[in-house]
This record gives sequence, C-alpha cells and structure tokens, in this order.
Amino acid sequence: MKKKIAIFGSTGSVGIQALEVIASHSDIFEVEALTANNNSELLIKQALKFNPNTVVIANESKYKEVKEALSKRDIKVFAGKESLARIAGMSGIDMVLAAMVGYAGLLPAIKAIEAGKDIALANKETLVVAGELINKIVSENQVVILPVDSEHSAIFQCLVGEYHNPVEKIYLTASGGPFREMSIEELFYVSSKDALKHPVWNMGAKVTIDSATLMNKGLEAIEARWLFNMKPEQIQVIIHPQSIIHSMVQFQDGSIKAQMSLPDMKLPIQYALGFPNRLTSDFPRFDFMNYKSFTFEQPDMKKFPNLALAFEALRKGGNMPCVLNAANEIAVEAFLKDRIGFFDIPDVIEKTMHTISNIQNPSYQDYVESDNEARKLALSLIKNKVN
Ligand code: NDP
Repeated sequence: MKKKIAIFGSTGSVGIQALEVIASHSDIFEVEALTANNNSELLIKQALKFNPNTVVIANESKYKEVKEALSKRDIKVFAGKESLARIAGMSGIDMVLAAMVGYAGLLPAIKAIEAGKDIALANKETLVVAGELINKIVSENQVVILPVDSEHSAIFQCLVGEYHNPVEKIYLTASGGPFREMSIEELFYVSSKDALKHPVWNMGAKVTIDSATLMNKGLEAIEARWLFNMKPEQIQVIIHPQSIIHSMVQFQDGSIKAQMSLPDMKLPIQYALGFPNRLTSDFPRFDFMNYKSFTFEQPDMKKFPNLALAFEALRKGGNMPCVLNAANEIAVEAFLKDRIGFFDIPDVIEKTMHTISNIQNPSYQDYVESDNEARKLALSLIKNKVN
C-alpha cells in the first residue's frame, strides 16, 4: 500500500520540492490532494502529472479555469478557504504535508489533526500561533507531527532513540541571512530586493524576509518549544554561516548530537514523509575536504531586534506569539511592497505586542481574535508611518 499524501501549498517552494521527492519514490508515495492559493497554472500542471483525487484552489475566482483544465480527468476540484479546511480531514489521506505559508495554514492543520491525520509540518506559523492548542489536540487524537523545517528535522533526528534521555538544551543554527555582516547604519537602507537574496536557501518570499530579519529563527524557537517541550532558556540560537550543521541537541551528560548535510530542503521533506525509514537519495553529498572550518557567532539582537521580540513572546506565552506572528505578517507584506523600511518591521511588531493584552491559556477563538486585533493595529501603525 502506498502512503497517500495531501500537500497543502503544493505550488510553493516546499510543495514543489515535496512533489520532486514523491516523484522519485513513486513506489512508496502517491498524491491524494493538492492545494494552492492563486497559482492555478502550476496547480493544473501538478494535477495533470500526479493525478490526485482532489485539488483545491483557495482563490474562488480561479475555480472555473482549474475545473475546465481538469475536466477530462477523474479529479475533484474545489475552491475557497472552507474547502481547504474540509478536505484536510478527507478519508483516504494518510499524511498531510502542511506547506502553506502563514496563519492561513492553521485551520487546515487543526482539521487534519482532528481527523486523525499525521502531519508533516513545514508551516511553522501553526505552532507559533497556537502551539498549546495544537499539542492538546495532537495528544487527544494520537497523531504524530513530523517536522519539515530543516532545524527541527535535525533536532528530531538527533532525538530518535533518545526517548528516555532528558535534553539539557537545543542549539538552533542560523545562516545569519544576507545582512549578517552589515552595520546597523547600512541596514537602514536595505530594500526588499536585497533581503530576497538569501545566501543559502531558495524559499518563498515571506520566509526569505523572515530569514533576513532573523524573525524566522525566532519563530523557529517558538516552534521548537512546542515540538520538543522545551523551556525558553533551553533554546539557544547560534549563527553558523556554512549551514551544514542544521541544529544540535545537548543531553544531560554534556554530549552533543548534530545533524549535518549540504543544505537541501528535499532531505528533511523526504525524512518526514518516509519516517521512520531513511529512503535512498541522489542529493549531493557533503565533502569534509571542501570545508576548512565551521564557524559560530552570537546573533546580534541590536541589528536583528525581531529575534529578541520573538523570545519575549516565547517567554510571555499565551496569545503573545500569535500577536507577534500577525504583526510580523503584516509588516513583512508592507516591507515586500517597499512601503516601510527594515527597522520599521520590529517597530510595528513591538508596538503591537506592547498594546494588545496578554491572554494566558487561550482558546481557538482567542487566537482568532488576537490575530485579527494585531493585524488591524499593525496596519494602522504602518499607515501612520507611510502618511
Ligand atoms: P511559498 O510562499 O513558496 O508557498 C506557499 C504556498 O502556500 C503556495 O502553494 C501558496 O499558493 C499557498 N498559500 C499561500 N497563502 C495561502 C492562502 N491564504 N490560502 C491557501 N494557500 C495559500 O512558501 P514556502 O514553501 O517557502 O513556505 C511554506 C511554509 O514552510 C512556511 O510556513 C515556511 O515558513 C515554511 N518553511 C519553508 C522552507 C523553505 O525552504 N521554503 C523551509 C522551512 C520552513 P500560491 O502559490 O498559489 O500563492
């Protein structure tokens, strides 16, 4: 029996690479469902190639185009946000790859977990926004979350076989992004175009900007807190520009395990889809002789205040990571449109976090309301800056 995979966000960077992994292991995996937001052209191409049971296009105005293009195939076509949430629980799916970007990925992930589906999780915002709630429903429905983010996959791989051994701390490594060596003065003048040139990873626009501001590492710290049940003080971020060590775990005897490879997202994607097996791959291999040294640095919180704000949200808990995430999504969108500058991003996030009240033990409704409130406030702060 092949494992039937539903890819939420199949037209994105993670989704496309996941389909490459599936194509190279078509004896093990088959595609059950594919979803996109706007990119109907690529969704149609993918559907014609992989012949899924169902496709969903979130943008309802593209429904007719997708439906007509797939009319000769036995593929169900749906449109809209509600359809995304509904098909996440569809029978016939063995595993959901959550590869949508942003808060929009939360509800489909919740519906998939409630329907008892195992999750390969790329959408870090799901755990950032609602980690407490997600962990609760994961244990109630006895599903497994397999991390796809390369850092969390690394930690997960280090923990396999160590179930009973307490972890002292985890080291989340970061490439440092395109602005690592710039001064604060220079950072005032960087544009979205500069930020989109990531030195190591080729990713979607939002996560690339988050990597440039180091918010990505902050979101990953929050994600790690929930995935691995860590306290904030057990999580340390270190800059490792070579991006070969994808993260590390330190145990109570002082021993440190690391997971290493050339940076290639297909590896953690394949590990999550194939777990507990390590499947064969022809990904380029790491050669020690090509690297004279590995280097490590402390992240500079003055240059990258987003990282400090993410740790503040992590320590405060409750709805604060949800507020941080919403303000960040709005600020990143404005930065991508060149409406605000690099340091306006943390400014908007900080003001939003310091205005909205902290709710402990939030319900799903609290998350929805906090997200809404934070977005509105962040938008008005940006409007004031632009005017
Ligand atoms: P992309 O922007 O490349 O792709 C996002 C996908 O989600 C696309 O298929 C997009 O559809 C879809 N999508 C976006 N918004 C919506 C919406 N509102 N409703 C429905 N679908 C939507 O993102 P990435 O692949 O880079 O990242 C996906 C997630 O994985 C993010 O959370 C990111 O942080 C995480 N991640 C990414 C890594 C990477 O290497 N890219 C590494 C580790 C984690 P469309 O194409 O039609 O717009």
